[in-house]
Amino acid sequence: MADELIETPVLIVGGGPAGLTASLLLSRHGVDSLLIDKRASESGLPRARGVHSRAMEILRVCGVEPDLRAVELPITPGAQWRTDLTGPPLREDVPSAGRMTVSPCEGLAVSQDVFESVLRDHARGHQAARVERGTLLESFELADGGVLASVVEPATGRARRVRARWMIAADGARSGIRERLGIAMDGPDDLGRQEMIAFRADLTGWTGARPRGIYFLTATGAALIWTHADDRWIISRPGTPDGEDPATVVRAVLGLPDLKLDVLAGGPWTAAAQSAARYAHGPVFLAGDAAHRFPPAGATGVSAAMHDVHNLAWKIAAVVHGHGDDRLLASYAAEREPVGRRNAEETGAAWSRLFDGSAAPFNGRSLSQIDMGYQYRSRIVVDDGGPDADPAGADYEQRAAPGCRAPHLWLPGGTSTIDLFDDRFTLLTAGPGSAWRDALRRPAVPVASYVVTDPGWPGLYGVAPDGAVLVRPDGHVAWRSRTASADPAAGLRDALATCTGLTRR
Ligand SMILES: Cc1cc2nc3c(=O)[nH]c(=O)nc-3n(C[C@H](O)[C@H](O)[C@H](O)COP(=O)(O)OP(=O)(O)OC[C@H]3O[C@@H](n4cnc5c(N)ncnc54)[C@H](O)[C@@H]3O)c2cc1C
Repeated sequence: MADELIETPVLIVGGGPAGLTASLLLSRHGVDSLLIDKRASESGLPRARGVHSRAMEILRVCGVEPDLRAVELPITPGAQWRTDLTGPPLREDVPSAGRMTVSPCEGLAVSQDVFESVLRDHARGHQAARVERGTLLESFELADGGVLASVVEPATGRARRVRARWMIAADGARSGIRERLGIAMDGPDDLGRQEMIAFRADLTGWTGARPRGIYFLTATGAALIWTHADDRWIISRPGTPDGEDPATVVRAVLGLPDLKLDVLAGGPWTAAAQSAARYAHGPVFLAGDAAHRFPPAGATGVSAAMHDVHNLAWKIAAVVHGHGDDRLLASYAAEREPVGRRNAEETGAAWSRLFDGSAAPFNGRSLSQIDMGYQYRSRIVVDDGGPDADPAGADYEQRAAPGCRAPHLWLPGGTSTIDLFDDRFTLLTAGPGSAWRDALRRPAVPVASYVVTDPGWPGLYGVAPDGAVLVRPDGHVAWRSRTASADPAAGLRDALATCTGLTRR
């Protein structure tokens, strides 16, 4: 039995994108945490090669974006289909030029190992965070309303116990925590086996110096992705490794029988489109791949992992700081489970069309709708009776309906409305909304107030110039009043009580 006992409000298990983002956000909200990851070093196989705009918005607010841009790969955005690498393009999917009008952030092209190392450095830069690699969660039990965990460092055998009020299960697709809690995964767990091979080769003769984001090679049903600036690439092709020389496989897939290359790593993986039956169990919250597994169609796994903990971190912080009730925590599962199911369905369908080359893979919701268009519906969002903002087949259009991501609008000085949404609620008004601002004196929870002078703001946010919008720390609209109110103080008080879970609606 380990003698050393660590006490922490939050134990984060897993130091992938979900766990590291949770650590960063909790620190920003002034909540101590301990993150452990069993891996002591990087895995040889890169997985994701980037994140979408919404995840970059989260990292922009955390101050991480500049360091990530410094290591970004200079790709040409979009996908290209060819028979093999030597053939002419059969088809191209190029992101629309208008996407920068809806976000201050472009998506990012960087390999997952590099991405995680930048996030880890930032996470470690916060005093509130303890980040340990080479530490394994061995077992845990639910005790005294929290979690009592046994952790061990496999390299030294050092064992300790951790008592935490909450535990974030960010331990990946094979989550031992999910399994121990008996939470089932819904949806297909085998959409096809794939073999991935990482290799180094100079392919500039066929891709140019700024390769496409991804190449789909239709003759073999394989994908080719540039991962690192030093000529490192991966291919993924259908099937399991069958003993064939990996270099021969790469040459055959690319259609380049004489290509000089070094094979770096390889292994099998299986595409799945699943979402956990429950994202919470008492003091344990599932996040990232522990909560859902998407096939890499559209590359949404890392982004969604970050969206999960963005939804969760401010709620934990509100309860720690006495600004929210446990009902706030219950809204995590209520809000994220439908998004996980929707993403699994959309990416599962897109996966089946990906290698076809004859049609766009995403013919349901568009990729930007999947990334930014989800609308939370829960007891802490005050529905104002508007239409569903995230129907099947939707393409993304900025909307400030309650539950939606609050729209981006450039503000003076090169900042965005997105930059306002950080560690507290934000009340947005235009000049004529002074009654709302006056009514905000001494709110029950911290609320920032911002007057938007841009004349386009009321239209973009769906209010009259004397209306008001309350935005949550995770940048989702909690409540809005389209016009002035006879009793703005009561309106705001009720809204804040509902949106923090302090009263039941
Ligand atoms: C082949 C492939 C290609 C992909 N391509 C893309 C892509 O292009 N874009 C994209 O967005 N996503 C992609 N993904 C998915 C993406 O990699 C995952 O969605 C993402 O890594 C999920 O992050 P996570 O933090 O939830 O889990 P992970 O990154 O899996 O991290 C989980 C961590 O938990 C640790 N851990 C597990 N058990 C324990 C324990 N008991 N104790 C301590 N630590 C533990 C592990 O060591 C690991 O570091 C791809 C996945 C695969 C397999």
